[in-house]
Amino acid sequence: MNAPTPTRKYDLGFARWVRDNIDHAERMNMCMQCGVCSGSCPLRNEMDNGPRKTFMMVRAGMKEEVLKSSTLWNCVSCYSCVVRCPREVPVKYILHGLLTYAIEQGYQEAQDTDNYKFASAFWNVAAGSGRVDERVFTAKFYLKYGIGGLISKGMANQKIAMGMIKSGRMPLFAAPHKIKGKGDLKKILAKAAEIEKTKHASLRDGER
Ligand code: SF4
Ligand code: SF4
Repeated sequence: MNAPTPTRKYDLGFARWVRDNIDHAERMNMCMQCGVCSGSCPLRNEMDNGPRKTFMMVRAGMKEEVLKSSTLWNCVSCYSCVVRCPREVPVKYILHGLLTYAIEQGYQEAQDTDNYKFASAFWNVAAGSGRVDERVFTAKFYLKYGIGGLISKGMANQKIAMGMIKSGRMPLFAAPHKIKGKGDLKKILAKAAEIEKTKHASLRDGER
């Protein structure tokens, strides 16, 4: 009888690469799969795998599945897992290291989640003007769902918008908020991007 064709791709060097290149990931060796981290995580229901399973998948070499995982994107850095892990595994830090690597590898394209749309609209506005103006941000976020999304989400949330307008939290006719010295902000962001690029290049070298 022929052996069944494998349906998953396993990268048996992935666990070692993660341990050697992701900050604090050497502590993953201490994980005993108790599940306290996933059980304590307030965002667990919004994650496909959760932290415990993610660590198991890293060990198993399931690189694609780990880097596409919504677990990395949906961690909100609440630190519950870090505080409660009986083996002192810095779970949150490792998840964020994996997320940085996933972004560098272009895996964010696999994310079509509300969180990803929200985060990219937020970054776009914050990096462009140095402030997050509610009107501009909301419009950009809703537009991620198309014109239909802009209209339907706007209608669904009009009560909240009216409350913000009445309280002066969201002035309708004032110019959008922005900082002075946007040029300096752009230079800071460009420098940060350059540092990240250098770091990622050295990570790639380590992968070879
Ligand atoms: S709480 Fe710590 S030891 Fe338990 S599964 Fe999570 S990382 Fe592993
Ligand atoms: S830090 Fe992230 S993974 Fe850990 S419990 Fe909080 S949301 Fe969950």
